[in-house]
Amino acid sequence: MKLQTPVSQLNRVGKVLENKLARLGGYIVGDLLMYFPFRYEDYSNVATIDSLKDGQQVTIKTTINLISSKRSPRQRKIIIEALVSDDTGELRLVWFGQPFIKKVLSAGDTVYFSGKVTDSMFGMQMISPSYEKIKKNVETAHTARIVPLYPLTAGITHKQIRFLLKQIIDEVKTIPDWLPQDICERADIMPYSEALHAIHFPENQRELDLAEKRLKFDELFILQLRAVLIRASHDTSIAPQLTFKEKDISSFVSSLPFTLTKDQKIAAWKIISDLEKKTPMNRLLEGDVGAGKTVVAGLVALNAIKNGLQVVMMAPTEILARQHVASLKKLFKDIDISIALVVASETSAIKFETTEKTKIGKKREVLAGIKAGKIHIMVGTHALLSQAVEFHDLGLVIVDEQHRFGVEQRKILKEKSGNVNTTPHFLSMTATPIPRSFALTMYGELDISIIKTMPSGRKKIKTRLVEPHHRDKAYTFIAEQVGKGRQVFVICPLIQENEEDKIANAGSEKKTVMAEYEKLSTQVFPNLRVSYIHGKMKTKEKDEIMQAFGAGDIDILVSTSVVEVGVDIPNASVMMIEGSDRFGLAQLHQFRGRVGRGEHQSYCFVFTDSDSKKALDRLQFFESTIDGFALAEHDLETRGPGDVYGTSQSGMMQLRIATMQDTDIIELARDIAVDIDLNSYPTLKEKIVEWEKSVHLE
Ligand code: ADP
Ligand code: MG
Repeated sequence: MKLQTPVSQLNRVGKVLENKLARLGGYIVGDLLMYFPFRYEDYSNVATIDSLKDGQQVTIKTTINLISSKRSPRQRKIIIEALVSDDTGELRLVWFGQPFIKKVLSAGDTVYFSGKVTDSMFGMQMISPSYEKIKKNVETAHTARIVPLYPLTAGITHKQIRFLLKQIIDEVKTIPDWLPQDICERADIMPYSEALHAIHFPENQRELDLAEKRLKFDELFILQLRAVLIRASHDTSIAPQLTFKEKDISSFVSSLPFTLTKDQKIAAWKIISDLEKKTPMNRLLEGDVGAGKTVVAGLVALNAIKNGLQVVMMAPTEILARQHVASLKKLFKDIDISIALVVASETSAIKFETTEKTKIGKKREVLAGIKAGKIHIMVGTHALLSQAVEFHDLGLVIVDEQHRFGVEQRKILKEKSGNVNTTPHFLSMTATPIPRSFALTMYGELDISIIKTMPSGRKKIKTRLVEPHHRDKAYTFIAEQVGKGRQVFVICPLIQENEEDKIANAGSEKKTVMAEYEKLSTQVFPNLRVSYIHGKMKTKEKDEIMQAFGAGDIDILVSTSVVEVGVDIPNASVMMIEGSDRFGLAQLHQFRGRVGRGEHQSYCFVFTDSDSKKALDRLQFFESTIDGFALAEHDLETRGPGDVYGTSQSGMMQLRIATMQDTDIIELARDIAVDIDLNSYPTLKEKIVEWEKSVHLE
């Protein structure tokens, strides 16, 4: 047998089981060995019958005295009963609906039984215990040990998988360790083949812990090595070295109507020191909505401009780009700076606007201004990457709401930068809270700054999980708010229900934008101005709606998650979220950040039809905290990164065994990866290249 041997050649694998294994990705022996248990049952404690206690998880070593079957009177299920004994006493065992047991076990057999002991009116007993006949010189697989449980699809049992693994487990000895000895020693981890053996059939808890540590380390170490390689490739590029323009920056800071928070100062200082280096900055600036990232971006942009360089500020949507222009205009009201807006209109022509100061109107003139270096900051969408745009001397690129730059984007901007010899500095900003362990794993190639504390004096948004029978109260409240001149968002998880779903869900109401819009505009608020927006609408339509909402021409806007990112409507004071159990907590938090941006007390009402305890617990947690990091961490723990950050963001991780809770191992992998010289480990380099090919990146 070899790692490449097809599973069909194993004992007791027929066509049916072969197909089922294929569904789990198990085609060859090597696949099965890499199919890790998701949990274990500890049956290593072998006890005597007289010592059994209610609730105990144990194994007993017994002889069967009697085994019989009968039908349950009401459900007509087969019940198997056995009486077993050891030197210390007798015990009753019961199985429901497993008639085959009578064929496998008979009186006189010596058998291990593993399971939970319960006290009943018949005395102590075990219900549906696992069993395994005792054979000389054969190690157990299902009882009297720590027993692995596998993530299964229908039709395969743990017992079957264990049976197969028992046949092939010795093959692990032929697998070489991909990590060099000295790294294993440094990380204090067990050899690879031992870990693979122990992850399936651990001798004891300690061995299992060591196996888990080793295999987790492997996964995390690859990610860290990859980050190191990317960093190294950045470090070979040359960036423009900027000096700190102290006078300009301090007069800018003193012109602000507020003082910077401590976190803002630290972040700005870090970025300015990055810009002084001759290698390009790659930094992620994280901070909750309203934490004040834009001010920091403006400050460092000014520093670049005072060094004679241009700055690009890229946003994911046209609306956000316009908002940035507005914020920058405000920030720089006393400073002589020209700003261009570069966005693609629907016909993919490029529209431009600049500040009143320079008053360049026409597209051609603006492009010329950019190329001549007369325009200092280019704010826009992906249109900034289009061919028509060429820069004079681009030194700094700031990207909003995108965690990492694509290699392609980076290349394009470098090529247009107006300076073939240097690579611009990159700063990305995000309002998505990313806990440190996740950031280290996912964005290991980036330096990270976090603005944790909010500027003081903000009004807290009041959040309420509203019970369904109080819905009318919420509507009354909304009417009052609109009466006071405020505006309202209503978020729904879906745009429209398709016909099939409608039939399948007959009777149960699903929250869709179109249905809610219909209901609110005709029945609940016929006298108010209700409108809707969703992702399937044309960009132009969406922009028109958002502009109308921003201008106060719409009272209530029903929307899908399209308003999630950055939209600034200071007059909106109520965020109502329907079907909230369908959103991640971090996403709900983003929605909530759409209100409370002005001087008005704001409210977030959360609705759900779910009565699952888990869903309600999550939503109550959301109700109780405004800390975006705590919410993101909670979701990472309970739902995993795919649900929290979307599969595209976390898909590359494909972690089988490590999790974001393994902070110690993450740090360990990180420390070693950063410290070693990859050039002295050519096999490791190969491994990363191989791994990159097997996973989808960016
Ligand atoms: P973000 O981009 O992180 O969502 P912004 O930079 O847009 O946040 O800031 C949100 C609001 O808070 C803006 O109106 C800004 O002027 C204001 N602001 C920023 N920093 C401070 C501060 N240190 N003190 C008071 N207000 C601040
Ligand atoms: Mg912002």
